[in-house]
Amino acid sequence: MNPENSPQKNLVSRRSLIIGAAAASIAAGNATVRAAPANGPVIVTSWEFGPGANDQGWPILADGGLAIDAVEKAINYVELLPDEFWVGYGGVYNEVGETTLDAMMMWGPTHDVGAVGCLKRVKRAVSVARKVMEETQHTLIVGDDATRFAARMGFQETSLSNETSIKAWEEWQAKNEPSDAWDPEPIGGGEKPDGHDTVGTMVVDVHGNVCVGCSTNGRLHKIPGRVGDSPIAGAGAYCDNDVGAAIATGNGDVMMRFLPTYHTVELMRAGASPEEAARAAIDRILAKGYHFDGGIIALAKDGRHGAAKAGWADENFGYAVRNQAGSEYIPVGANGT
Ligand code: ASP
Repeated sequence: MNPENSPQKNLVSRRSLIIGAAAASIAAGNATVRAAPANGPVIVTSWEFGPGANDQGWPILADGGLAIDAVEKAINYVELLPDEFWVGYGGVYNEVGETTLDAMMMWGPTHDVGAVGCLKRVKRAVSVARKVMEETQHTLIVGDDATRFAARMGFQETSLSNETSIKAWEEWQAKNEPSDAWDPEPIGGGEKPDGHDTVGTMVVDVHGNVCVGCSTNGRLHKIPGRVGDSPIAGAGAYCDNDVGAAIATGNGDVMMRFLPTYHTVELMRAGASPEEAARAAIDRILAKGYHFDGGIIALAKDGRHGAAKAGWADENFGYAVRNQAGSEYIPVGANGT
């Protein structure tokens, strides 16, 4: 449905007003300056698609735009990459061959969250999450109802499969193996699940607004209906406008049990550096005996950043940073950044 014809057209959204008011006051030059980062705005995005994503968000920030717009633009870029298997259409499929998406957006100035879980047949999941945040009082909408919500917001329903994902699914199905998700998550041993990635983007804009978002297809061969950590505030991503933000990637089925991005941000509030905070959040999970692959990336409001990981000995886990000093890709080793 076109948004012009939508039943929401004439509704005045409280949340849109809040974000709109922030934008208007900034445009009028009287925004509250909330301790913007010393070196201007900053954008941080996970994994190797991070530099390309940051390049999309950076012009918005360099022009004095809002963090929320930069986060959405950066993540949409990755969601729409045709050859990216782990995020967006044409990639990771579930146990029955369907691609479903999880995404979240969190806006620091109002501590507002919108998210979708197990979204079907709609691209740009993070933009649907933003609509949940701006147009409703809800935080998380899931499954076919998330698809219906997206259609009411004007998003097009379409297939999320492409040649690559169909071929990969057919090859896996021919092996006639059960999904590894049927093996109860081992504490302290056993096989790690097949790979998965998330795009997570964190921004502090020139006005001192903090925003975070993330989007993923989740875990390969997941059981239908599975929702991972990404759309859960404090699990897949979290921000606090006074402190900064954190994003998670890796085995969400384990990591969401510890709310590691909430933990990371709270440790930064207590004085830890981004890297120390991320390390402590990962170590909390390891201390319970979990054997998992995962990483946390953190951004302090003053522009400092850092990360830590567990596992992923053979993966090029890292993140990209763009600020006024330029663009950088930072690999994350076993001992952090
Ligand atoms: N955390 C995501 C999930 O489990 C996937 C990933 O980041 O690797 O759904």
